[in-house]
Amino acid sequence: MGADRVGEHSVRRLVESSSPAASNRMRANRRRDTKPEMALRAELHRRGCRFRVDLTVLPARRADVVFTKARVAVFVDGCFWHGCPEHATVAKANAEFWQAKIGANRARDCDTTLRLEAVGWTMVRVWEHEDIGTAADRVQAALRSANRSKTI
Ligand SMILES: [Zn+2]
Repeated sequence: MGADRVGEHSVRRLVESSSPAASNRMRANRRRDTKPEMALRAELHRRGCRFRVDLTVLPARRADVVFTKARVAVFVDGCFWHGCPEHATVAKANAEFWQAKIGANRARDCDTTLRLEAVGWTMVRVWEHEDIGTAADRVQAALRSANRSKTI
């Protein structure tokens, strides 16, 4: 997962006391090596792709899977933290806090995309709920078009 976890630590105590569901979500959203992220890495590796993991691509911005030569950055976004349209749920406890937090994450995601694209990167954003095969197809398609545009 490639976005903002700044402040996650400081809110952990608040969250844990607010609701067990929210604290489970918090635990399920560790900063790196999440299940969907590892599954995608395994699938890409199986397909012969070689890449860097959890690499800083902009100051204070890390991508989950990075193809440095092709300049393709992959972010695996957690449905809760990044406000997935299919699975966005509003936590009952501290609803305003969560909406602000997720809104800030989304704004940061958007900013990261704009800034990376401005310096020639191709971005691939994968939702944690996405089928791994489909996600890997999208990454490979991005790689192909990035490599094409670099040889022209
Ligand atoms: Zn989702």
